[in-house]
Amino acid sequence: MVLAQLGGSISRALQQMSNATVIDEKVLNECLNEITRALLQSDVQFKLVRDMQTNIKKIVNLDDLAAGHNKRKIIQQAIFNELCKMLDPGKPSFTPKKGKPSVVMFVGLQGSGKTTTCTKYAYYHQKKGWKPALVCADTFRAGAFDQLKQNATKAKIPFYGSYMESDPVKIAVEGVETFKKENCDLIIVDTSGRHKQEAALFEEMRQVSEATKPDLVIFVMDSSIGQAAFDQAQAFRQSVSVGAVIVTKMDGHAKGGGALSAVAATKSPVIFIGTGEHMDEFEVFDVKPFVSRLLGMGDWSGFMDKIHEVVPMDQQPELLQKLSEGNFTLRIMYEQFQNILKMGPISQVFSMLPGFSAELMPKGREKESQAKIKRYMTMMDSMTNEGNLTCLAELDSSNPKLINESRIMRIARGSGRQIKEVMEMFEEYKRLAKIWSKMKGLKIPKKGEMSALSRNMNA
Ligand code: GDP
Repeated sequence: MVLAQLGGSISRALQQMSNATVIDEKVLNECLNEITRALLQSDVQFKLVRDMQTNIKKIVNLDDLAAGHNKRKIIQQAIFNELCKMLDPGKPSFTPKKGKPSVVMFVGLQGSGKTTTCTKYAYYHQKKGWKPALVCADTFRAGAFDQLKQNATKAKIPFYGSYMESDPVKIAVEGVETFKKENCDLIIVDTSGRHKQEAALFEEMRQVSEATKPDLVIFVMDSSIGQAAFDQAQAFRQSVSVGAVIVTKMDGHAKGGGALSAVAATKSPVIFIGTGEHMDEFEVFDVKPFVSRLLGMGDWSGFMDKIHEVVPMDQQPELLQKLSEGNFTLRIMYEQFQNILKMGPISQVFSMLPGFSAELMPKGREKESQAKIKRYMTMMDSMTNEGNLTCLAELDSSNPKLINESRIMRIARGSGRQIKEVMEMFEEYKRLAKIWSKMKGLKIPKKGEMSALSRNMNA
């Protein structure tokens, strides 16, 4: 996704600033201009970007900062906070409760991915123990009911709609009533998509909302709409009380910055993002981890939670301790690979780690990546596991230069791989070791503690 490019540009601007010997007004301005350019290129609304720049300048007053202050850290923190602020309207969206009927209405332009997202949203909650149901109140588009029916049947979710009835309000009300009687606790109403902002269709949407009294209205937005995002989202909000946003097609080539604009226009949080056409290509959206990832800082809180989920309790303190000492040995890499293979959807885990995402684990090539990791592990199985008085075990080395030619030949022979593959594995190790050296001094959080780890990391 192009948002990754935005992240890359921002990280580069920060890096350039770090390279400067003295951080003065000129260096700060250059850095902010670079970030501004990157945000505008990603389709974030101009006013938002300008406000962000003004706010950062207000917070970072270089004259007031005493010599001892780490200016780079303060600036980086201010940028992190401002990006979070852009994406966080300051109020959470309504969350449906299990066992209590909630009505959630979906609105959005035709083609935005609304119908697909209704099913993804239902499926996501069904897996978590809700009893969802789908109502097709889209009588405008021929085939809308069939599409919803097909998706719902596939996911085994009850649905309601009609081929004959042309009044969307009537269908919506009947559907909601039917499913309330059936004790469904999450009743999802899909409304007609609009080609553009047509008054009559907005009126219809308002009527459906008035008749069904939704607990939450979700505005679905295609991430590729670019600068139009702000106006479009605002037009919807003026007709119905939008309470949350879902941004779709984040897997494509969209610039994605429109998401930030939609949040500002609707004053509602993004709650999920769509990352593909399939039912489970749907992710919960969390502001801080997202911005951390965007800035290449890694999603440490998500990563730590994953570690807590899959690494046996008794091994956690030891692993984290080793990492916090910043001594990333080949053995640690081996253990990490083991964990990663256990952690399931592999690219998701990797994208949480700083610097990893695209290179080792390109999306859509999970099988290949997994095979590569297994290959590396086979080679590492041929390395010495126990040291002696004069020599460390090869696996405990953090300096591959010490592993000389004859050792490399032995590892290749032992694992049935080529020498160049062993060399490639060491290159991968060196790359990871460099990234993980940043973990030195890491404060280790307890389970669920979404601490500002990313900030510690970049201190
Ligand atoms: P609606 O007119 O707003 O109801 O849109 P649909 O749900 O019919 O979706 C329009 C097209 O977008 C369909 O081909 C969907 O498969 C596709 N789509 C929806 N969400 C996503 C997504 O997150 N990623 C990708 N790549 N395609 C999506």
